[in-house]
Amino acid sequence: MSDPAYVLDSTAFYAGIPYQGSGRYFTTYMVLEEVKHHNVGSSLIHSRVQVTEPSQESLARVKTTASKTGDIGALSQTDVSLLALALDLSQSSGGANLVTDDFAVRNVAEVLSIPLAQTSMKGGEWKNITWKIHCRGCGRDYTNPKLTVCPVCGTQLARKAANG
Ligand SMILES: [Zn+2]
Repeated sequence: MSDPAYVLDSTAFYAGIPYQGSGRYFTTYMVLEEVKHHNVGSSLIHSRVQVTEPSQESLARVKTTASKTGDIGALSQTDVSLLALALDLSQSSGGANLVTDDFAVRNVAEVLSIPLAQTSMKGGEWKNITWKIHCRGCGRDYTNPKLTVCPVCGTQLARKAANG
């Protein structure tokens, strides 16, 4: 088993990078630009986080997917770079959890089968996200993340991360 790998968005930096633990951390130059204005410990970033650029191929694939899901307007260039990096890592090094609280980013990640984690911590590592899908129409709950419309009453489903 290799160590868990994480791709970090700026909110993950603000939440705090674990000093302990065996996780491997990745981010993009665009995220680094964002967080360096906020006095996030730069020595920590350099010792624990590998900064890398995503491939053009993955950038294109993320943009195409986000256009299809309707999330492209909600994604910043930084978001696109993170998704593309997570996609690269999922193909080359056994995968990495994308750590983000951004709904549009999560939505696109899910379509691309990128594993997700949220920025709140549990036991020194980020928690993996499990989805809870709720129908406001008939009140039913679902767990299948692929569902977008309630199969019982036809209402558009709301999706949120379940804690725990
Ligand atoms: Zn329903």
